[in-house]
Amino acid sequence: MYKAPRGTSDILPQEQPWWKYVQEEATRICLLYGYQRLNTPIFEDSGLFARTVAGGTDIVDKEMYVFHDRGGQKLALRAEGTAPVCRAYLEHGMFNLPQPVRLYYIGPTFRYERPQAGRYRQHHQFGCEVVGDSDPTLDAEVIDIARSFLLSLGLPVLSILLNSIGCRLCQPTYVEALKRHYSNYSDRLCPDCEVRLVRNPLRLLDCKESSCQEVAETSPRISDYLCPDCQNHFQAVQQYLEALAIPFEMDYRLVRGLDYYTRTVFEIQTQGEERQGALVGGGRYDNLIEQLGGKPTPAVGFASGIERIISSLKSQQADIPHKPRRTTFMAFMGTEARIAAMKLASQLRSAGIPVIAASGDRSLKSQLRQANSLGADYAIIIGEREVTTGSAVLRDMVSNKQETLTLSEVAAALSGPTTANN
Ligand code: AMP
Repeated sequence: MYKAPRGTSDILPQEQPWWKYVQEEATRICLLYGYQRLNTPIFEDSGLFARTVAGGTDIVDKEMYVFHDRGGQKLALRAEGTAPVCRAYLEHGMFNLPQPVRLYYIGPTFRYERPQAGRYRQHHQFGCEVVGDSDPTLDAEVIDIARSFLLSLGLPVLSILLNSIGCRLCQPTYVEALKRHYSNYSDRLCPDCEVRLVRNPLRLLDCKESSCQEVAETSPRISDYLCPDCQNHFQAVQQYLEALAIPFEMDYRLVRGLDYYTRTVFEIQTQGEERQGALVGGGRYDNLIEQLGGKPTPAVGFASGIERIISSLKSQQADIPHKPRRTTFMAFMGTEARIAAMKLASQLRSAGIPVIAASGDRSLKSQLRQANSLGADYAIIIGEREVTTGSAVLRDMVSNKQETLTLSEVAAALSGPTTANN
């Protein structure tokens, strides 16, 4: 028997209301802030991720799903959402639009990770990107959106962790200082950090191994190395967050797992779900568009994991709004009644009334059992007598009361207001 590949899951019908709720809320919030939806392909040229997320990161070195298509092109399943958005921004000349351009996306992301709670090989991200403006109000804006999104879902925001990792002018001096510090403790580093020390020293700071964390405790802080422009930018971001009454905590070890970040980086965690990692991660990426061959174009954004959000909602026992929707099951007995039932179902659907049609040659009892298991509120029953008289039996599946009505009376009865039980 085949199973869904390890680290992936089916989103079953009973899960769909959660997904719908989260995606609708994401869309609603984006529209409030003037963000427009962008869908990018599930796969891209693998170089798009390899160049921007960059070697030395887990995503590029260990986690990308890379394959050659039949034409020999090297492709990768979408490993993250930001680089594809920037690629589309350039490809469609969005730099000619008034800047900044505000975009959002919702879609699957693929990473070959070790599956565990909150970590899957296929997960879904909702993300926002503002491209084409370096104004620190936009850093505050995307943090504000991410927080409003979580709060509007009913998730308590535990903490917003904030840091600045500088720019190409000041970051290299800091990285050198970091390397010098870590080189003094090279005997204590885990094998991964030995590699990071050479390939991606910033990532040393968020290693979870306790011996490496001890080294991080005493490491130099990036805040002491920021150039005046980065300092001013970071101060302004904090000032705007304060103006919006958004609480945050400084975390000088926050560096994020993707290489393209510059200046502001942030993560948002929710209460009780620290185990599965951050719900939201983001930051500024002022060099990314240039790396892709565009003019220097500043940008900032975030991504959030929908699976993690739904899991948090469930563990908070959040109630999701349930829109009452009436379901009607169409039962029939006999060959002529089957045709009459098909016609009536079709008419009702044209009038916007949802109808699930019975199939096969089952007994009425068995059809009504199916109606019950589908949670139908009503069943319409058509037999030979109803065919002859042009009528139908409308049965209330909750009270089990039924009456014979003309076809137009059935339509009128079903288009009335929904009742409490549905
Ligand atoms: P990143 O693209 O790594 O910045 O991740 C953005 C967000 O996506 C994270 O904050 C998580 O909520 C979610 N996420 C990242 N990786 C995974 C994964 N393997 N499984 C589930 N969610 C993930």
